[in-house]
Amino acid sequence: MKLKDKVCVVTGAARGIGESIARRYVAEGARVAIADLDLASASETAANLTAMGPGEAMGIAMDVVSEQAVNEGIAEVAAKWGGIDVLVSNAGIQIVHKIEDFPFADWKKMLAIHLDGAFLTSKACIPHMYARGGGSVIFMGSVHSKEASPLKAAYVTAKHGLLGLARVIAKDGAAQGVRANVICPGFVRTPLVDKQIPEQAKELGISEEEVVSRIMLGNTVDKQFTTVEDVAEVALFFAAFPSNALTGQSLIVSHGWFME
Ligand code: NAD
Repeated sequence: MKLKDKVCVVTGAARGIGESIARRYVAEGARVAIADLDLASASETAANLTAMGPGEAMGIAMDVVSEQAVNEGIAEVAAKWGGIDVLVSNAGIQIVHKIEDFPFADWKKMLAIHLDGAFLTSKACIPHMYARGGGSVIFMGSVHSKEASPLKAAYVTAKHGLLGLARVIAKDGAAQGVRANVICPGFVRTPLVDKQIPEQAKELGISEEEVVSRIMLGNTVDKQFTTVEDVAEVALFFAAFPSNALTGQSLIVSHGWFME
């Protein structure tokens, strides 16, 4: 087991990519806090994963834009399991508009969830990692950390920003064994993506089939969606990597949509 008894916090883990990462971590023996907006759905996911074992999970209510909620949630996890080894800052949403129509409130909401969320959870977890002699901070970036698409001003800006934050944490945390890396998935068929398909079709004046085949999969090598399991595999690799040799990096998992 690659994460036996490691204490991991995964935000936005009640469903989607976060749930898949939490599932993979529990399968590797980890203790995983499922941090999400709604305690009932976080606890339900946690109960399902605990039943699966061999690790265990707990649900915690956390809006990642609230400093108080983040600090209280992380303190609760550290008190229950004695520390924190791995943070996956994954919670995220998508809002698409043409730049000239982008409501300022939506812009601020997007930057807050993706960037304030990553900052606040890192700030709260890193002292616990220092106390353990090291840890792994993982941000959920996107191909949009490297590439731009129409209608996604806030998302692309936020996802690019995560690369910078990870690189700073890699430097700040190195002496105490904390590394930081970014996962950059292509399109994954979760509720976040399903919601975008009709929205993009309307904004761009094309069919939903064209959004999928041209916008989402047009540049992949094989016209395939990336899966939640693919992303979880990368999240396991970053979490279990044993040294500072792998830090400040980003790894793209996108069926070749974006190559570097
Ligand atoms: P999803 O909508 O299926 O799940 C997101 C989860 O985050 C939900 O459980 C939601 O309740 C939670 N959440 C939302 N706002 C929150 C907040 N303020 N505090 C705490 N939890 C919050 O989305 P997903 O597709 O699983 O996306 C997860 C992450 O992966 C996001 O950061 C997203 O940008 C990124 N990503 C997704 C794709 C994709 O194609 N689905 C591709 C690249 C990157």
